[in-house]
Amino acid sequence: MLEQFPVIFGDQHSEIAINHYNEVEGVLLQIQVQIVAMEIIYLQSFFMCRFSCMLQRIGGKILSSYIMEQIYYSLGKTGLQGGLCRYNIQYMTKDPFISSRHELHRLAEASGKEMRTAGYLQKALSKLNPDRIMADIGGYGIAVLFNGKAPGPTILLRCDMDAVPVPEAIDRPYKSENRRISHQCGHDGHMAVMLAVAAELSENPPEAGQVILLFQPAEENGLGAASVLADPRFEFFKPDYAFALHNLPGFPIGQFILKRGTFSCASRGMTVRFRGAPTHAAHPEQGRSPAAAMCRFIGDVKGGTVVGSKLGEKAFGTAPGLSEVWVTLRSETDREMADIVKKAEELAFECARAEVLDVGFSYEDIFPAVENSHEAMDLLEKAVTGKSVSFLEEPFRWSEDFGRFGALCPSALFGIGAGENCPPLHDETYDFPDDIIVPASEIFLSLIEEVTGGAS
Ligand SMILES: [Zn+2]
Ligand SMILES: [Zn+2]
Repeated sequence: MLEQFPVIFGDQHSEIAINHYNEVEGVLLQIQVQIVAMEIIYLQSFFMCRFSCMLQRIGGKILSSYIMEQIYYSLGKTGLQGGLCRYNIQYMTKDPFISSRHELHRLAEASGKEMRTAGYLQKALSKLNPDRIMADIGGYGIAVLFNGKAPGPTILLRCDMDAVPVPEAIDRPYKSENRRISHQCGHDGHMAVMLAVAAELSENPPEAGQVILLFQPAEENGLGAASVLADPRFEFFKPDYAFALHNLPGFPIGQFILKRGTFSCASRGMTVRFRGAPTHAAHPEQGRSPAAAMCRFIGDVKGGTVVGSKLGEKAFGTAPGLSEVWVTLRSETDREMADIVKKAEELAFECARAEVLDVGFSYEDIFPAVENSHEAMDLLEKAVTGKSVSFLEEPFRWSEDFGRFGALCPSALFGIGAGENCPPLHDETYDFPDDIIVPASEIFLSLIEEVTGGAS
């Protein structure tokens, strides 16, 4: 099952390169180790230890000890007193896009901090010779343009780049290098799908019009789409249609999940602050406690889920003067959201007035509803003809910031099943199923054909 390539000693016996091919999994490991003189033994052992752990994770115990033996053997040959390993492990599967997905998984970065992810993408995309590549859009976003042979409509396909603050619980060869952040929402897979689309466009440019592939940062906190759209350089792009997908655990693998109208809900985090006056706990009548107003608000607020609250401090001698309530408001349309917000604010004012308190609000994690246009849905339904498709009756309750593209042009978000037994999104055991990279990219390519006129 394991085939090991011979160990090659580089110049002055200071480098080792090992190729390790695992037939069964179709995985090729390329390992380069550089050994240089090193006086600080502590650092040397630190790097050795880290390297060996990484090897074990990727190649297992047997391979790891084989390679470590080779390193110590070559150290002996060089006559170096100490050795620091500068190492580079490339992990490749037979399928380049699965490899990309795994590489991106390892690089997992939080919303707005996708620097290494962007670096990886830029390198991969520039090899595909697009007509234009624009980096650092709305943060670390990247937009890539492929021109058709003749003028025509422009289609924008968007994927998201950020990971989530969930430590992954499964040991995988491509485990996230960032212990607290991982791709438990599958955005690594969405990017790999887009790389597959880019590779195809590089070989076969669209007949007419333009294709924009947008790698969008910061989807999870709802800021990414807004900052891309607010970036003056994005004005260069004038899409006529926009599409995006999200993988969906709980649905059969590879099935397409479509819905006309609202696909996923609008939501926003609302913070309500009540301010009264603190006083000695022995004389609460001399202060103004926000406790009653806060409780009434929590009990009566409609159209949302109270996710937390805070009243005063743990100080037994003091009656509180401050409180906060955090509520996630949710609705099927943006218009409905405006109404829910208005009513929640009115309720808070009323609760505050009754207790002679000041009240203030702030909002974060603002997601508009994703409302799929009929025009975009007509194209999408054509693109999935002959595939396994499920039409939703109710929109998803979760939110996605792709909704902001709806203000730009006819747009649609759709789902692709990640398997009925796939753990839910953001679960610590979730992992994007590699099997859906190809079918997902095929639908995007069909959409490109629909919009740009195909090969006719
Ligand atoms: Zn997510
Ligand atoms: Zn997501």
